[in-house]
Amino acid sequence: MTARPVLGILGGGQLAQMMALAAIPLGIQCHIYDPDPVAPARLCAIHHCAAYDDTAALSRFAASVDVITYEFENIPLSCVTFLNTHKPIMPGVTALQMCQDRLTEKTFARSLGFATAPFVDLAPSVSSSDALRTVGTPAILKTRRMGYDGKGQQTIQTAAELDQARTAYATHELILEGIVPFLHEVSIIATRAQDGTTVRYPLIQNTHRNGILRTSLAPAPCRTADLEALADQIASTVLDALGYVGVLTIECFVVDAPSGSTLVINEFAPRVHNSGHWSIEGASTSQFAYHVRAVMGLRIDPPALRGFSALCNLIGDEPDHKDIPAGVSMHRYHKTPRPGRKVGHLTITTPDHASLKHTIDACCQLIGGRIA
Ligand code: AMP
Repeated sequence: MTARPVLGILGGGQLAQMMALAAIPLGIQCHIYDPDPVAPARLCAIHHCAAYDDTAALSRFAASVDVITYEFENIPLSCVTFLNTHKPIMPGVTALQMCQDRLTEKTFARSLGFATAPFVDLAPSVSSSDALRTVGTPAILKTRRMGYDGKGQQTIQTAAELDQARTAYATHELILEGIVPFLHEVSIIATRAQDGTTVRYPLIQNTHRNGILRTSLAPAPCRTADLEALADQIASTVLDALGYVGVLTIECFVVDAPSGSTLVINEFAPRVHNSGHWSIEGASTSQFAYHVRAVMGLRIDPPALRGFSALCNLIGDEPDHKDIPAGVSMHRYHKTPRPGRKVGHLTITTPDHASLKHTIDACCQLIGGRIA
């Protein structure tokens, strides 16, 4: 490792921006690799602006850093495999490959003994009526790859509707999932260091609208000791099975079960996650600092929470700084606002739950939205 360690990040969006900011006090310099000339993280990292298939530029990038990580899971696997021949990539290629495909990740979760939605691989040989019989109706059709923020998804009621959707998505590999009658949505954000130490935040409760995360509450109001114990088991089993290093996010549904509520795994994100942004203000170690520490071989300690936190995404538009209630932190991503685009977030951290609700209400009015 060079005298001043350098972390290379594939992708230069807001996640890379917040990672680079967390790296600075650790004495770590970040380089980002992003084809977008106005990638937000260029403001706090050295920007390598080139395409993901430009092997000459990728080689230069690899030569300038000690370790490589990524801020999104939809990077072409060929790019990551190429870079891995030059420098260590963390989390590794196996984890990335698993998380890029909904079929692989659900099969993996089941193989470890955890619950998922009923699902079926919509291979051409599988008839729509058989698939619907397996998962039940209504069902959700999803592309196996490249789906995020609810993109590439459709609710299906009948076999005829599914036939039609399969024709429309003819160029994609598809998975059909049964609808999970969830009570809540939560995420598990856990970190595994190079020596195998694993830490995690308490469960985080998330609210989505139109497939996009709107708010996260930490700790999750719906958490119970049993849910937290199951979250521990899921996190350590998954991280160990993958030999994982870095932050892993596991999105789950909370469902009713005969013995109380339980967790059903929806998907994995092999990276820092939107539902963990509150940790910048709300925890002793933010998810960004955890990720940087883990991939750079530093020690990680369990987090202490600073009271109760809420994250509220700013979607499509940013409020004025002067309107932000006292004690609320606004983070801007330096992205051009457009409908449906995440351009920033607010974090509210309070010592008790009652004042959290009060400030959330004030923020709701500000952004004209609803926070559950
Ligand atoms: P995903 O892209 O899989 O994270 O899906 C986006 C959102 O759609 C989730 O956060 C849920 O609100 C909803 N959703 C996805 N899959 C299911 C499912 N099998 N059952 C019920 N809701 C789902």
